[in-house]
Amino acid sequence: MLSHETINNVLQTYFHFTQLRPGQESAIISAIKGQDTMVIMPTGGGKSLCFQLPALILPGITMVISPLIALMKDQVDHLNALGIPATFINSSLTADEAKERLGEALNKKYRLIYIAPERFHNQSFFKTVQQLPISLVAVDEAHCISQWGHDFRPSYLQLKKFITALGRPPIMALTATATPEVREDIIKQLDLHQPQEIITGFARPNLSFEVISTADSQKKEIVLETIQKQPEASGIVYVSTRQRADELVRYLQDYHIAAVEYHAGLNTAERQKLQNTFMSGRAKVIVATNAFGLGINKPDLRFVIHYDMPGTIEAYYQEAGRAGRDGQPSLCLLLYSPRDRYLQEFFIAGDNPSLDLILDIYEFLTTYPNDHILITYSTIKNALGLDTPDLAIGTALKILEREGYLAKTYEKTSQAMIQLAPKNIKLIDGQKALGPKAKKSLEIWGKLYDRYNGKLRTGLYINLDTLANSLGYKKDSLARVLKKLNDQGIIIYEPPFKGTEITLLKRCPREAVNLDRKALETKLAFAQHKLDQMENYVYHRGCRQQYILDYFGEHLAGNCGQCDWCKGNFNIHSFNSRPNKLSQRTSYHKNLYNIQLSTKLTQLTTLELYQNGLNIQEIARERELQSETIVEHFCYLLEQGLITDMSQLIDENIITMVQDLLAQKPQLTTDSLKTLKEQLPSYVDWADLKLTLAYLQHNKSHEPKTS
Ligand SMILES: [Zn+2]
Repeated sequence: MLSHETINNVLQTYFHFTQLRPGQESAIISAIKGQDTMVIMPTGGGKSLCFQLPALILPGITMVISPLIALMKDQVDHLNALGIPATFINSSLTADEAKERLGEALNKKYRLIYIAPERFHNQSFFKTVQQLPISLVAVDEAHCISQWGHDFRPSYLQLKKFITALGRPPIMALTATATPEVREDIIKQLDLHQPQEIITGFARPNLSFEVISTADSQKKEIVLETIQKQPEASGIVYVSTRQRADELVRYLQDYHIAAVEYHAGLNTAERQKLQNTFMSGRAKVIVATNAFGLGINKPDLRFVIHYDMPGTIEAYYQEAGRAGRDGQPSLCLLLYSPRDRYLQEFFIAGDNPSLDLILDIYEFLTTYPNDHILITYSTIKNALGLDTPDLAIGTALKILEREGYLAKTYEKTSQAMIQLAPKNIKLIDGQKALGPKAKKSLEIWGKLYDRYNGKLRTGLYINLDTLANSLGYKKDSLARVLKKLNDQGIIIYEPPFKGTEITLLKRCPREAVNLDRKALETKLAFAQHKLDQMENYVYHRGCRQQYILDYFGEHLAGNCGQCDWCKGNFNIHSFNSRPNKLSQRTSYHKNLYNIQLSTKLTQLTTLELYQNGLNIQEIARERELQSETIVEHFCYLLEQGLITDMSQLIDENIITMVQDLLAQKPQLTTDSLKTLKEQLPSYVDWADLKLTLAYLQHNKSHEPKTS
């Protein structure tokens, strides 16, 4: 029989806590009783304990579904350090490792097993999982299941089906950010049965919320003044773009503020270095571009300043809530200029592509004769001749995936290929070609040549991070030099493929594509509604903490006494001059959705230049596009039969060779390009291969049918 004593014993023995926080106990009891549970607690509020503790009491395994690979590893490391047997299975493991861990789970080695949702799509994997005795399924980041959430993931929609196939053990859904609409959606999509809902921990009595309405040009000075008021304090300044981060960091450094910059482009080592600088106090201020993946866990942050208004209250509160984790008084300041809204509308547009754009992309994909397509966003962009943000393309593909028109492969190729060109090039030849002034290039060329000489002759496939580390350079500058060496004909450098692997599942004419226009419009309206709620926060005449808690559904008795309104410092005096949002939005979206389609396909411009006698490199230079893009254009033109004479493009012998090879080993047509390339002599480069295949493809689909 379950008793408070049992729970307390486990809590003290394994987790070394003496007391549970509000809400945790109800969640734990609900899970142990086998009820469905929904836990809404802010980050740092002790959410994970709600399933980790029951995992030690329940008879079977607790399966934790999480989309965040880094977080999985952190939690598993933490549990193992506490002596709790746990493991994870995600795309960071090899197939053998995953199999081994699953085998160990079958042998009851683990109490908890963390799994990425994409894994379930693997049939044999899922069959094995079905044999596990599962007592509880914890769905972490449950808002990912909702289209209304800020981080929708199509793979989450399949969870209901999978959990049912596991015999439908009790479910605990957990999230840090869920509005009432998202909560409802989680219950519906996971089919939770009368779940116990626990919403707690959102109130942060030690935080004082303030808003200053100001012109963009004044923001820097306000940040500086705020920081100078507490010279010993550390904190975070959030900005919405990398460019602003650069500017602000430089500005603060000019005033001798120890500020560093945090952005999504940093690698693990750089993040670690940054974290050390910050934790040790050598840096006081972090200027950060976004919250996700922010690996900084410093409890004594005295302020979080938002340089620009975020798009939702959830995002704002999650970021602002990093202040004062130690319970000491801390400031959450939002700088607002009415123009901030435009940037957020831009993000919303990227998140909500119009039906027409989605159909354009689908139609373009169907021009590929093969269902299996390797493509980059820039190819799609170039083909549509649109100034479409990558974000919108990504969202459009997600929607097409969700509706069953295509499947995206989740594993990405991440290796670069480097090869000496020509094969017998000597160290000295490269040095001569570079000239004495190209110091860095000479250095890198020398190191590459010394260290990888043998492999470079046949072609070296390597992860750029690994190579950069082993040679002692930053990845970006290494990549630049490799590209330069490639352009000078010293090496052949194929950068890692950054695109997406798509498999078309359905082919139909545009008119037959069945997408819910209404749902898309509702989602757009909802995002705008959330942005309105964020902006209303700025203009809200009342306690700010109350406003936020109301938004999350937690109710607070009385005002906070800390915010600018409660303290009588309310300084949003521009209430009457608030821009008329409705008219602003209408005109903005009119521009955004009526983007004129270029009447001329971008590939045709390439064709024209080709007909004027330019080669691939020359066309790339002329059009200021990557040569890979131009190769893609040629593939398209060849596939469409718009170029039939290959003589200027590619050596006839190569075509014959590829043709013969495919005739001998027809299975290669369905294998990856890489496998095919490995069968060919090394002087056949990627462009040669792609062009040849496109050419053969066209010929094949136009050869007379024999029936
Ligand atoms: Zn207040």
